[in-house]
Amino acid sequence: MSQRVVVIGAGVGGLTLAALLAQAGYTVDVLEAQTYPGGSASTFTHKGYRFESGATVAGGFQENGPHAVVGERLGIHWPVKLHDPAWVVHLPDRSVGLTLDHHDVLTAFPQSERFWRQQSAVAAIAWRMSAQGLPWPPRDLAELMQLAKVGLMNFPRDLLLAPFAFMSVRQWLSLHKLAGDAAFKRFLDASLLISAQTTTDHVYALYGATALDLSRQGVYHVEGGIGGIAETLVKTLTVLGGQVHYRRFVTRIAVEGGRATGVYYKTSRRVPTETFLPADFVVLNNTPWALEQLLGEAAPNDLKREVQRRDATQGAFVLHLGLRADDLPAGLPDHHQMIESVDGPMGEGRTVFVSMSPTWDTTRAPQGHRAVTISTHTRVQDWWDAFQRDKTAYYERKEAYAERMIDLVDRHIAGFKRSVALTLPGSPLTYEFYTLRPQGMVGGFPQRSLFTARGPRTGIPNLRLVGDSIFPGQSTAGVSLGALRVAADVQRHLPLTAPRTYSIPAQGASR
Ligand SMILES: Cc1cc2nc3c(=O)[nH]c(=O)nc-3n(C[C@H](O)[C@H](O)[C@H](O)COP(=O)(O)OP(=O)(O)OC[C@H]3O[C@@H](n4cnc5c(N)ncnc54)[C@H](O)[C@@H]3O)c2cc1C
Repeated sequence: MSQRVVVIGAGVGGLTLAALLAQAGYTVDVLEAQTYPGGSASTFTHKGYRFESGATVAGGFQENGPHAVVGERLGIHWPVKLHDPAWVVHLPDRSVGLTLDHHDVLTAFPQSERFWRQQSAVAAIAWRMSAQGLPWPPRDLAELMQLAKVGLMNFPRDLLLAPFAFMSVRQWLSLHKLAGDAAFKRFLDASLLISAQTTTDHVYALYGATALDLSRQGVYHVEGGIGGIAETLVKTLTVLGGQVHYRRFVTRIAVEGGRATGVYYKTSRRVPTETFLPADFVVLNNTPWALEQLLGEAAPNDLKREVQRRDATQGAFVLHLGLRADDLPAGLPDHHQMIESVDGPMGEGRTVFVSMSPTWDTTRAPQGHRAVTISTHTRVQDWWDAFQRDKTAYYERKEAYAERMIDLVDRHIAGFKRSVALTLPGSPLTYEFYTLRPQGMVGGFPQRSLFTARGPRTGIPNLRLVGDSIFPGQSTAGVSLGALRVAADVQRHLPLTAPRTYSIPAQGASR
């Protein structure tokens, strides 16, 4: 048998990595706690609806986009359809469609034209450079050499990027005399909050340029729901000889002599029995907090310090709604972002993202209905405090958030509230239960600086992280780029000694 890589978690990051390594010839086993893949980008069934658990819009399928690069390497034909406009941003005084040609944005904010021209040029260079999974931050000579190679290939255009690594988007806006333009700044803040987990004051301009490019690169619907990305990866992995094992709760990563030797898992949360699976290399598709818990005493001191030092990341409050389609306006775009006001804090129901199942995708809802996901950023700790203090207060809080969010959407989409036939709310407690991400922290770290970005290393030579905690962070496209980088890293540190032999299974993965 070739060397075995165990990947803990079948999120998009874990599965992309697993498929790349299986293709390279490793024996790959993915252990997933749930009975379906995708984690925060999964689709689940409830009362005849197929709801998207978190992510709803997918970018990165354009030429050189991360999913396109992975698809090309693995021979995947992604089941996706372009959606134009990407989404519609509803500010209190205007609604702006994010179309591929950017027409509505320039009409709503004509003063910003020069800014967008520069943004587009910066993003184009950054996309080209990042297409193969930049090893950032570099951790050894090989990664430095790889970075230097990418730099040389793009020289001297890449030098244009340098200033954007050192300034925030707000400083960049100042150069264009736009920092005092409250409506425009809010418009960008709302976009960056969902793509970079923080706002113009904090996001560094280089990241901001690519994050703000999402709608112009194209946003896609996945047929059957966003979980189709992970489901496609599972099929590909299986054909390549790897396996996904569902209902495997990994409880510990075993370490001996400073190296990971395998993992212990249980087949349900409640059973006491643990089974050991040996591994030559282990990759965790979860956060540094989860890594520390799984390592216990064996956690390196740097990791222990890291999880103490870091602030909790964002959480999400989400509403899954079943809507009666006839009550909604005809021709409504599928994705919307509603922003309550142009000042004050964001999140906590004041800014929401709404995604409706496309009318052409009849697999998503009972006839005459649509499956909808609405989400808002939220502080995770407040939900845990409420739950621990007083369960009634926790449930009341959920109801209050649901009402506030539905009211906000109803202000912009006539008939929305009336059309609600089913409501299923989810808080950070729900996310922790279904994704095993500690405290239900989702979306990775805020992108404040290129120079504090977290890489995949863990302090244990044959153990890595993959997913939205590592550079370049959140989104299905972001974690795919991270996976490309981790795949190269694993191959350097665990060169193949024996080719794997396998027969191509007739269908599907083990479930
Ligand atoms: C509300 C919300 C909206 C979002 N919207 C978008 C969007 O529109 N577009 C977009 O691109 N991105 C969006 N994102 C972000 C995107 O969903 C994530 O960044 C991405 O899916 C994370 O992938 P990941 O590889 O880090 O794995 P995760 O999604 O975190 O999945 C990890 C998997 O590992 C499993 N696992 C973890 N630990 C263990 C263990 N110990 N044992 C067994 N299994 C384990 C979990 O069960 C899970 O299936 C959104 C996220 C949220 C929460």
